[in-house]
Amino acid sequence: MSELNALRSRRHWSVLAACCMLLFSTGVQAEWFETEKAIMGTAIGVQAWHDDKQVGEKAVAAVIEEMHRIDRLMSTYKPASEISRVNDTAALGPAAASDELRMLIRKAEYISELTGGAFDITYASVGFLYDFRQRVRPDAAAISDALPSVNFRFVMVDDLAGTVSFAREGVRIDLGGIAKGYAVERGIAILREHGVLHGLVSAGGDTRVLGDRLGRPWRVGIRDPRQDGKMVALLPLKDEAISTSGDYERFFEAEGVRYHHIINPGTGKSAALLRSATVVGPDATLTDALSTSVFVLGVEEGLGVINGLDNFEAVLVDNDGRLHFSHGFSRLAAPE
Ligand code: AMP
Ligand code: MG
Repeated sequence: MSELNALRSRRHWSVLAACCMLLFSTGVQAEWFETEKAIMGTAIGVQAWHDDKQVGEKAVAAVIEEMHRIDRLMSTYKPASEISRVNDTAALGPAAASDELRMLIRKAEYISELTGGAFDITYASVGFLYDFRQRVRPDAAAISDALPSVNFRFVMVDDLAGTVSFAREGVRIDLGGIAKGYAVERGIAILREHGVLHGLVSAGGDTRVLGDRLGRPWRVGIRDPRQDGKMVALLPLKDEAISTSGDYERFFEAEGVRYHHIINPGTGKSAALLRSATVVGPDATLTDALSTSVFVLGVEEGLGVINGLDNFEAVLVDNDGRLHFSHGFSRLAAPE
C-alpha cells in the first residue's frame, strides 16, 4: 500500500469513526417506547417512536398520567369524581362543571342528535341498575320505573355559568361510551407535543394511530366476537382512529339471554341486534361514541348513519357472525 493510499485509508477510517461517534452522541438510534397499564377499568397501551430516550420515556409517562387524570374526573365508580358530584346534585339545581366535562357532554349530545338518541349518556338512569360482574339485572318493573329518566334532552349545559343541570330527578349520566376515545385523543395530542411522529394509543376497544409504523401502515385487528384470539379483519391504518363496541366486553348470561354493557336507551335492555360494531374515522372521541351508537342501531340504521358521514367507515358483525360494511370501507383495505 503506498503512503498516499495508507493516508487515504486512515482518513477514511477516521471519518467513519467520527460519523459513528456523532451518531451515538446525538442518539440517532431511534427506538420504540411502549407501555401497558390497567386504567379506567381497561387496558391502556401506548407506543411511541423517538430518537431521544429521555423524551420518548417522558412522552409515554405523560400519556399514562393523562389517563389517570381523565379517570379521576370522569369515572362514575369514583364517588369523588367530578361526574359523580354532578350526578349527585344536578337534579337539585345547576352543578358546577369544568370546561372539559361540559365539552364532552356537548359532544355526546351531538352524537345523540345524529343517531336519533341511540347514543344517550342518560342511559345510566337505568344502566346503574345493572352490575355485570355480580350478574345483577333489573326486573321489568324496575326498568319501567327508571326509563322515563332516560333522555339526553334532560341534560342542560350552561357554558356561561359553567354548570350542568338535570331536568328531573332520577337522571344520571355516564360517559363510558365516549370518554375512552377522548382519553385516546388526548394521549395522541400529548405524544405530538413531545415531537412523536409515529405512535399508537389505545384504551380497551378504542385506538388511534399517529403516522405510520415506519413506512408501513399500522395493522389493527378486529377480534372475532365469539372466538378468543381470532380476528375477523386486519385493517391497515395511518393517522386514523378505530373503535369497536362488542357484546363480549362485559356480560353475563342468564336463561339464554346475554346481558351486556351496551344499553338500548329506548328499552333499558342490552342492545341485541349485533355482536360487534367497529367504526374507523379521523377522531377517536367520535369513533368511540359512534361505535356504541351503531351497536344499538344495528345493520341498516347503523350503516345509514355511517354512510351519511364523510371520512367514517364501519364494519359490523351480526348475530349470525356475518360481516356488513359501510359504502367506502374498501378505501381502508387499499393496497399499500
Ligand atoms: P363502548 O365499549 O365504547 O361501546 O362503551 C360501552 C359503554 O358505554 C358502557 O359501558 C356504558 O358505560 C356506556 N353506554 C352503554 N349504553 C350506552 C348508550 N346507549 N349510549 C351511551 N353510552 C352507553
Ligand atoms: Mg364506544
